Amino acid sequence: MSEVFFALVSILALFALAMNRASLRAWALAVAIFTLGAQMGLAQGDLHWPVFPLWSLLGWFVAGLLFVTSLPEIKRNYIVLPAYRALKDAMPTISETEREALEAGTIGWDAELFSGTPDWEKLRRIAPISLTAEERAFLDGPTTELCKKLDDWRIRHELHDIPDDIWRFVCDRGFLGMLISKEHGGLGFSAQAQSLVLGKISTRSSAGVTIVMVPNSLGPGELIEKYGTEAQKAHFLPRLARGEEIPCFALTGPFSGSDAASMRDIGYVTRGQHEGKETLGIRLDWDKRYITLAPKATLLGLAFRLFDPENHLGRGEDVGITLALIPTNHQGVEIGRRHLPGGTGFPNGPTQGRDVFVPLDWVIGGPERAGQGWRMLMNCLAAGRSVSLPATSAAAAKGLLRTSTAYARIRKQFNLPIGFMEGVEEPLARMIETAYALEAARALTASMVSAGEKPAVISALLKYVSTERMRQSVNDALDIHGGKGVCDGPSNTLQGAYQMVPVTITVEGANILTRTLITFAQGALRSHPYLFTEIEALQEQDRARSIERFAQTFDGHVAFTVSNAAGALFHNLTFGVFASAPPNAGDTRRWWRELARASRSFALVADATVALLGGRLKVKQKVAGRMADALAELYLLSAVLKRFDDDGRVKEDFKLVEYCARNCLHRFEQALLGTLRNFPVRWAAWLMMPLVFPLGLRRRPAKDDAGKEIVRAALEPGAFRDRLTREIFISDDPKDRVGLLDYTLAKVVACEDADKKLERAIRTGEVRRFYDRDWIAEAQHKGVLSETEARDLAELRDLVARVIAVDDFSASELARGQAPAPPPKNDASKPEHIAAE
Ligand SMILES: Cc1cc2nc3c(=O)[nH]c(=O)nc-3n(C[C@H](O)[C@H](O)[C@H](O)COP(=O)(O)OP(=O)(O)OC[C@H]3O[C@@H](n4cnc5c(N)ncnc54)[C@H](O)[C@@H]3O)c2cc1C
Repeated sequence: MSEVFFALVSILALFALAMNRASLRAWALAVAIFTLGAQMGLAQGDLHWPVFPLWSLLGWFVAGLLFVTSLPEIKRNYIVLPAYRALKDAMPTISETEREALEAGTIGWDAELFSGTPDWEKLRRIAPISLTAEERAFLDGPTTELCKKLDDWRIRHELHDIPDDIWRFVCDRGFLGMLISKEHGGLGFSAQAQSLVLGKISTRSSAGVTIVMVPNSLGPGELIEKYGTEAQKAHFLPRLARGEEIPCFALTGPFSGSDAASMRDIGYVTRGQHEGKETLGIRLDWDKRYITLAPKATLLGLAFRLFDPENHLGRGEDVGITLALIPTNHQGVEIGRRHLPGGTGFPNGPTQGRDVFVPLDWVIGGPERAGQGWRMLMNCLAAGRSVSLPATSAAAAKGLLRTSTAYARIRKQFNLPIGFMEGVEEPLARMIETAYALEAARALTASMVSAGEKPAVISALLKYVSTERMRQSVNDALDIHGGKGVCDGPSNTLQGAYQMVPVTITVEGANILTRTLITFAQGALRSHPYLFTEIEALQEQDRARSIERFAQTFDGHVAFTVSNAAGALFHNLTFGVFASAPPNAGDTRRWWRELARASRSFALVADATVALLGGRLKVKQKVAGRMADALAELYLLSAVLKRFDDDGRVKEDFKLVEYCARNCLHRFEQALLGTLRNFPVRWAAWLMMPLVFPLGLRRRPAKDDAGKEIVRAALEPGAFRDRLTREIFISDDPKDRVGLLDYTLAKVVACEDADKKLERAIRTGEVRRFYDRDWIAEAQHKGVLSETEARDLAELRDLVARVIAVDDFSASELARGQAPAPPPKNDASKPEHIAAE
């Protein structure tokens, strides 16, 4: 027993030392104490280890070795320098544009997840959703008004454009200046408010929202607000805020898409004529494409590479990427033609310019900002990418869930609402999880940006994960709606979102690139506590200084790695019961602990991935992609747990939180397993496998019954469904295509008992349901239904007919692309059997 006790204490002490990042000397002392303790125990007869003298020798040897290697000179010559030499060539080199991308933006909760020991206080300090009275009034007032005005079918199909009255409305009401400060005539809204406004509009028209989104995202407004000269701010910002200038921003070209920094668009600093005077300026050539709002724009933000062969600016020949503001009516600017992205109706098109001369003070921020364009873009991208696409993706997930739950309860086949069938339950459960988790992540990230953060890694992660999940929700909604979802027309609520999916997947960093390169490969460098500093040290030209800087981080990094290895093994062996959780975590304590446990495993594998793959990480994209997925699951789980707290821990939501947590952790485990199974350095994978999965795969996805429970709750009108679909455009007006669904859903629930009576009578043959009969009147006549029940069911029958109706067109209407909204096939004033004839 004593031997077991002694061994246990020793092992626990070693775990404690490792997990608390003890120094080499502390390790040496600890090993010496154990060895001495064991010797004393043997001497007193408490311990009985037959081969102890050998172990004792080994113990003293290890203690001595640890002590010697802790001596500065020895450590430097025999540990630090060999490590320095080994890593110098293995670590990725960072180009100037990569450095600017890496240094742009901020790190925050992502760094906590990379650390393996997240500080819960940092997450809890992020504010829950909070809007000023003015922001709330804007969201409930003009935003709702705009939603009511937007006719998505007209935009997508008839006009392939945004109608003038919508442009006028958004300009007059200040929608285009949400991010412009009040001082400069804008609304000066927080990121949270902008996110909610954009989300709400997008649930009404995903094409329509772009005209509000683009001016409030990466583009002239934000760039001028942050970097513009005083003159540029005074001139442009009030005009942009009032919609007197319509901006667009052109970065992408035919040969520079994802690799935007490789642009061939070029400007030379030279003298030329401007407004009749000789002026120092830039002669430009560009060819850009895919530019949103370009066909309507009056102000073109242009990115190009600037050269200064005569050194007018005093910064050498290659000045670097530069941003300028060019009025679209300026001589030589070609703009106005359109692309047709996804068949949707928002303005998007190419622009070219040949030999266009612009004065130097058209450079954003003036001549002194020439060459700083990439850094300026990256800084704005981190904030913008955190807001726009997560807002519209989360809103789409919520909106699709609202319509799909209503439809699934209203639409019956085999005498049963399709939502009650297990096959339909599956996609519905997925949609519920997506809507809850994406909204949680959206709100959390928008709050970070509202507080001044520019989350570089989180914004990349959230961009790809929110648009991918939204793509899944759109597909799920289409499956649930069957032919009703497939056939387009004014009454279709899904096709607008379906058309926008590929657009959201492609813009602001196409998803494959964002997942497999940006999120983890750059994220690890950015969020890891030591890596970026180490790589900078390794890239230092002066060798002595390079070694010195490397040595400064070396101890910390080794202790970090050892701590994560021990921490991962310990928490995985003990199922996370000793992992940390925030104080007063309540019912979700278990999931916070699981999150901490998962973060340890992630930190260990992430560290090894970057250290061992180094520069190869850029090409080992399947590994990087899986690590990005693992990080995304940790982020989503953090957001879900925080949302539950922020929402006041509503009891009815707890089941859903558990559902999300189980699935997040299951997918996390699969991502980590995939990484280790395919890890290119096999010996490292074999070492990590028992630390990360000492007891095999333990995390199971949520059970079917749990899915059933949340789906059944979401199929009921009420608080749970409303919370899941908060802050989107909703209506209970049966004349509205979305309002009709909610209105009918309420009637379905109210008429359930009467409907059961009718169905029973139909099953037994007492009443016959055919188009040539009024079966409800017949049921009333036969005493199956009371007069009130018959009246309610007749109303419901007509409403249901309208809900399931699909638009049709004459060939000439479609050929002209001028299909007017046809009258509803089943007019509410007529019973279904008459209307359908
Ligand atoms: C509707 C629409 C609106 C847009 N609006 C604007 C705008 O307003 N302003 C603007 O400047 N641009 C805009 N863009 C451009 C958009 O940002 C680019 O389309 C995007 O950057 C991708 O470039 P690309 O289409 O040329 O694809 P490519 O760069 O050719 O990429 C093709 C595929 O290869 C993948 N890929 C590329 N490189 C890598 C890599 N290293 N590792 C892994 N995968 C990789 C990509 O992820 C993608 O899946 C818009 C695009 C669209 C479609």
